[in-house]
Amino acid sequence: MTVAIIGGGYAGMAAAVELAARDIPVTVFEAAPSLGGRARRVTINDNALDNGLHILIGAYSETLRLIEKVAPAREHFLRLPLTLNIHKRFSLRAPKLPAPLHVAWALLTAQGLSTVDKRAAAHFMQAMKKRSYHLEHDCTVAALLTENSQALDLIDYLWAPLCIAALNTPIQRASAKVFLNVLRDSLGAGRAASDLLLARMDLTALFPKPAADYVRARGGVVEAGATVERVTPDSNGFSLQVQGHQRRFDQVVCAVAPHRAADLLADIPALAPARQQIEALQYEPIHSIWLQFDGRINLPSPMIGLADSPAQWLFDREAICGQRGLIGAVISASEEHVGEAQDALAQRVATDIANNFGPLPPLKWHRVIAEKRATFSCTPNLARPAAVTACKNFYLAGDYTAGDYPATIEAAVRSGLACVAAISA
Ligand SMILES: Cc1cc2nc3c(=O)[nH]c(=O)nc-3n(C[C@H](O)[C@H](O)[C@H](O)COP(=O)(O)OP(=O)(O)OC[C@H]3O[C@@H](n4cnc5c(N)ncnc54)[C@H](O)[C@@H]3O)c2cc1C
Repeated sequence: MTVAIIGGGYAGMAAAVELAARDIPVTVFEAAPSLGGRARRVTINDNALDNGLHILIGAYSETLRLIEKVAPAREHFLRLPLTLNIHKRFSLRAPKLPAPLHVAWALLTAQGLSTVDKRAAAHFMQAMKKRSYHLEHDCTVAALLTENSQALDLIDYLWAPLCIAALNTPIQRASAKVFLNVLRDSLGAGRAASDLLLARMDLTALFPKPAADYVRARGGVVEAGATVERVTPDSNGFSLQVQGHQRRFDQVVCAVAPHRAADLLADIPALAPARQQIEALQYEPIHSIWLQFDGRINLPSPMIGLADSPAQWLFDREAICGQRGLIGAVISASEEHVGEAQDALAQRVATDIANNFGPLPPLKWHRVIAEKRATFSCTPNLARPAAVTACKNFYLAGDYTAGDYPATIEAAVRSGLACVAAISA
């Protein structure tokens, strides 16, 4: 049995590692020169940065397991106990208490909320736990919060930022069911599940690169700079056209981003319904802004929110991974900035940082990375295609495929593992 994986992002590489671990011959084709897809290293002025600033959480059990499998005993992350700090407006920090007391305590001692709001937040968590974080009928997160008497400040400082961070979809459009899945497995689970994990290395070095080494060491093949142009089923498997050459495989895992997947399914009639689902997906943007200052910046914490800026979160890369004077800022799910002049946006964020934290050293360079289709828009009752398709031996992997989670690294990794489970079965 030979398996081809199209796409060397987190989904594709997770599938490759698990197949290689089972001694199943696997070949990964990745179109880009480096692995990692949307969570990959980009090099700017000799600095190893990321395509987008990423937060992982302790609940990413499969991602963390695979990282440990391919690159054991390294200090992968700066691990912070659940902390939400919106400068001068709101702060919440979980103490070292066993679950669920850590969350109850964090909510009841949060700064920036009235006593009534704190109790309402704790009550909301209790009510969701009582119903096992399950909703019979999906609705928007905004509707769920209103139904549960969550006041405006509470929504603005706690639930809306959490929803944007997890689903990259504003509460007015976001799926309450998926939001509750995330709450169940983070705030609603053991204490470590809600820890924030900030990678101490770039996102290609974190998993895809050691994953490729692992696969090669077990006889697998990982080809970067190899675009799959067409997939055609034949009597006993599939023919892949890769840079003009035909390659044959028994099974195929298509692990490309959804807006690239539809074209690859075009020659397989049985996949027309899956293709339709993929084409119906809407997308949300994320802007990542890198600001390199000529000197040390001291933010109050490695990750801090801003209330009056287009940038929702700032990351102090010196505190996280020793990159002196480098700040990463993120603007999630905001159409408003798509097409905005990058210089103006970067300057605006730099000014907001100075206004909040005092004078800054001169700005040496900046870079804005705008991902218009960073993630699918995670709306209520969204139909997502399954890993196992109507075409025998052809599987779909990726953060957009059916599953409990929104478009995240963990969703991508789990989707890759779901394909391997089906192939092995
Ligand atoms: C800016 C940004 C910030 C984010 N922040 C977070 C976060 O904080 N936390 C979090 O968990 N998630 C975050 N995400 C989401 C996360 O990055 C994605 O969910 C995850 O990386 C998706 O992985 P994937 O393997 O499904 O797809 P992708 O990463 O898109 O990988 C698909 C791969 O397929 C390759 N490919 C495409 N077409 C072909 C072809 N024809 N032949 C060969 N190869 C092909 C692509 O080059 C790519 O490498 C963020 C995403 C972005 C863009």
